[in-house]
Amino acid sequence: MSQTDIPSLALGHVTRLHAYTPGLQPSGSGWVKLNTNECPYPPSPRVAEAIVRELGADGASLRLYPNPESASLRSVVARLHGLGEKQVCIGNGSDDILNLLVRCFCSAASPLGQTTPSYSLYPVLVEIQDGGLQTIAFDRSMTLPVERIKNSDAKAFFLTSPNAPTGVGFSNAQLEEILSAYRGVLVVDEAYAPFAGENAVSLLANYPRLVVVRTLSKAHALAGMRLGYALGHPELIDLLDRVRDSYNVNRLSQAAGCAALSDTAYYDGVIARIKATRDAFLARLEERRWFTYRSQTNFVFTEPCDAAGRSGPAVARSLYDFLCENKVLVRYFPSHALTASFLRISVGTDDEMLVLNRTIDAWLKAATHV
Ligand SMILES: *Cc1c(COP(=O)(O)O)cnc(C)c1O
Repeated sequence: MSQTDIPSLALGHVTRLHAYTPGLQPSGSGWVKLNTNECPYPPSPRVAEAIVRELGADGASLRLYPNPESASLRSVVARLHGLGEKQVCIGNGSDDILNLLVRCFCSAASPLGQTTPSYSLYPVLVEIQDGGLQTIAFDRSMTLPVERIKNSDAKAFFLTSPNAPTGVGFSNAQLEEILSAYRGVLVVDEAYAPFAGENAVSLLANYPRLVVVRTLSKAHALAGMRLGYALGHPELIDLLDRVRDSYNVNRLSQAAGCAALSDTAYYDGVIARIKATRDAFLARLEERRWFTYRSQTNFVFTEPCDAAGRSGPAVARSLYDFLCENKVLVRYFPSHALTASFLRISVGTDDEMLVLNRTIDAWLKAATHV
């Protein structure tokens, strides 16, 4: 019992809420940070210039509210994808967009659909809404359960593609098979699409109940600015605009987003470099004979084996702890049977991956780890 009775005044579902567990953001220097899929390279130099310009002398512009529709950024995003401005909604991070979608489509009587494992924020957003959740489980192959999603009666279904934390991408052919039968709104969370071979944007023209969600936190190195967006039919975008905060994206972020998305040449280079580092790391894991899903993202989901060739939750935990003691931070998801034997490792710079590989070698040499 609390002294104030404040919790008892709150709504029941709020008192039972479990907040989202974000990856650690360690303080102090010296960490090799491979746990939250941030970009290891800085954003386009145009971003800092744009922020300084937007700030004005003495930060005078900050007195004024930002553009409520993020109008300039909407038009940059629309042009980038060959869509109309009415097909774009800008969010304070794509998490904001996902939250708006839950607000529009999910309640106790209208459960949200999702696959598991996938992005662990979805159930948290649903809990905040006091909504229901229908879950379709992957098996170890991580192939898309197309038939089950087609037949889902959820008003909206969240699908992460490429998926997290596995890195497995789904083809447009599979998505079209779902879209041609599923009657609700299919939300494809494409946080990692810049690293993938295919993306669903071209399907928007034919499928009005498709929404594509993107973020600037991963490939665009702007996790700290909080920028994401939804692409979809104007009627769907209109719903999102009704339920969002009127000033949901701040001035500096709007300017940063315009500058970033206007510098495609810079980001093409960054993405190519990350993919090359990823593929070199995947080859290294293959040499080690660690089972690893084929990644279409900027992270790798791998099942570590110890020196005796054993794998499993205790082995994954042992490597996670060893890396952590050596200031290499990766992500471990112990609570799901399909993830508990794996580690999710973000792709860093080549130097960071060298440190990681050396630390893994040291763990393999240390005989006492399980
Ligand atoms: C990182 C991530 C996001 C969050 O993006 P923000 O724009 O930083 O809120 C959304 N979906 C998935 C699957 C992610 O991995």
